[in-house]
Amino acid sequence: MIHRVRKPYIAGNWKMNLDRARSLDLIKTVKGRLGDGNDREVAFFVPSIYLADVSAVAQGSPLGVGGQNLWFEANGAFTGEVAPRMLREVGADRVLIGHSERRHVFHEPDEWMGKKVRAALDCDLLPIYCVGETLEERKGNRTDRVLKRHLETGFEKIRVEDAHRLTIAYEPVWAIGTGETATLEQIGQAHRAIRKWCVQRVGEEAANLMRVLYGGSVKADNAKEIMGVDGVDGLLVGGASLQADTFLPIIEYDLR
Ligand code: PEP
Repeated sequence: MIHRVRKPYIAGNWKMNLDRARSLDLIKTVKGRLGDGNDREVAFFVPSIYLADVSAVAQGSPLGVGGQNLWFEANGAFTGEVAPRMLREVGADRVLIGHSERRHVFHEPDEWMGKKVRAALDCDLLPIYCVGETLEERKGNRTDRVLKRHLETGFEKIRVEDAHRLTIAYEPVWAIGTGETATLEQIGQAHRAIRKWCVQRVGEEAANLMRVLYGGSVKADNAKEIMGVDGVDGLLVGGASLQADTFLPIIEYDLR
């Protein structure tokens, strides 16, 4: 049994999936299975349009509810975007920033990341900041360089006292939604590099408060071994978070 200094964090990213009825069913089922939330943190990242309904159902439970993206201004002429205060208003307490689909499908540039992370924190939203290399970058031995660049841009406006509210997700792009999981060695290596960078950036005491998650084709049958990798504090789960029977065993990875 590994000794954990940080509370495990299991997060589900629904992306643009489910409908309203199935979202609410899933929340009700997971809420009913969660205990007091003392030994693990569980959250869903929900399409903005369902946030109000989903957070109403989650209310009174330790289940976290978050948005999948935000824009860093408070208001203005930004058609199609959602401001941090709007996410708060419909019950979100957290948000994903820099997910690989935002970076690679919608071409969000590195320069936005620091502003987004800052805007989330300033509005009391807990960010999960996603970093990770493409297959081409891994094959070209550029993984460390890419992680460093993602971290530098995301942490641009971070102060030491923000660190405990910040979570990082290491998500190799080639492992997201592909069924291909990074090896335990690759996961361990990336997590070590991320933690080392964080220690250098905010100091050991603050960095020790930050959780680093793994994401990329996590399933019930690999969750336990990934959670056993030194430095992995939790999991960010896409496809397997869409149904109770695939997500609950991941939440309860250590109970079987
Ligand atoms: C994700 O959406 O962040 C993700 C890791 O997806 P999947 O688990 O489906 O690979």
